[in-house]
Amino acid sequence: MSTELPLSPRILAINESATLKVDAKAKALKASGRPVISYGAGEPDFSTPANIVDAARRALDDPGNFRYTPAAGLPDLRRAVVAKTQRDSGLTVDPAQVVITNGGKQAVYEAFAALVGEGDEVILPAPYWTTYPEAIRLAGGTPVEVFAGADQGYRVTVDQLEAARTERTRLVLFVSPSNPTGAVYTREQTEAIARWAVEHDIWILADEIYQNLTYDGVTATSIASVIPEAADNTVLVNGVAKTYAMTGWRVGWLVGPQRVAKAVSNLQSHLTSNVSNVSQRAAVEALTGPQDAVAEMRAAFDRRRRLIVDELSKIDGFVVPVPEGAFYAYPDVTGVLGREWHGVTPTTTLELADLLLDQTDVAVVPGEAFGRSGYLRLSYALDDESLLEGVHRLQRFFSVD
Ligand code: PMP
Repeated sequence: MSTELPLSPRILAINESATLKVDAKAKALKASGRPVISYGAGEPDFSTPANIVDAARRALDDPGNFRYTPAAGLPDLRRAVVAKTQRDSGLTVDPAQVVITNGGKQAVYEAFAALVGEGDEVILPAPYWTTYPEAIRLAGGTPVEVFAGADQGYRVTVDQLEAARTERTRLVLFVSPSNPTGAVYTREQTEAIARWAVEHDIWILADEIYQNLTYDGVTATSIASVIPEAADNTVLVNGVAKTYAMTGWRVGWLVGPQRVAKAVSNLQSHLTSNVSNVSQRAAVEALTGPQDAVAEMRAAFDRRRRLIVDELSKIDGFVVPVPEGAFYAYPDVTGVLGREWHGVTPTTTLELADLLLDQTDVAVVPGEAFGRSGYLRLSYALDDESLLEGVHRLQRFFSVD
């Protein structure tokens, strides 16, 4: 007789989030008294703006918020998302096309669940955010990676997508600005991908969670609005977490053709029902209230972005493309692998990240977490002083051969 009963094969196939693992290790070391500086977490270091917090306080005084509401979200928030989608994605939609979710993450899961069937292939541009391949597999799909390195600005081309296409291709993921690379596709590149997907009847899942965090006058063009035919093929994912420093509030959404929104709302009605009304009220204020705090946070990210790119570029063996969006630097560090550093010769970035944490108390996420060794992700959503101290430690570490 076996002592352990089996778990579901689908659940057993899920990998632990590598980004959270790095973060947990860094936090444990810090708790033990080590002066750890972590570039690991993908969340703003700012507080949620006061007007948003006040809206949540007011929501607690309204007993209407103590009850279940429609699974797809509060009508006020769905309307606010309609206006936001028009403003930032250039797409005219109806509230019936919007589902409010527990963070953008739930929107990602639900979109794959609604669009991908058993055995379908999903084209996944790499480097990719760690959650996508897991969510694709949970839906029964097969991720098909298409890799774009630093030499092509971490942006895949239509030729690469076409080479990966088979008759089983159901969906292509489009993330601009990207986590982990910060790359933003140009309007022309975006349009070319939209045309290709429409021509071949392929769904587009566009994760626009970083769309308001772009720099150098760059704007992230929404793939849904770049050609008129794209809207029918596209599901947008977005949320308040990154733009409004609201990671802990858990409000995201999905916008798509009405039949998709309906299917997702059905799924959510059995999964989590509505998102906390207090958080939804806060999100209404985030989207419809003053946007000055957003501009201030973006200006701070921009300053830190230039700082980290300049400082990392000084390390021999690091190639650091300038990220145009999000809050991550993603250097290609293949130049330092296979060399001896302080008695150790790392051959992968997994080993390198471990070495850096052990010897410099600096936490970074290895490229393996995003599909391929040879890269490090550094979130620059931390205060200027720590940010500089951490990169100086890295410079000192790599200055001795
Ligand atoms: N998409 C991307 C690309 C992300 O980086 C994240 C957060 N790391 C999310 C979606 C989900 O964000 P949340 O669930 O906090 O809204």
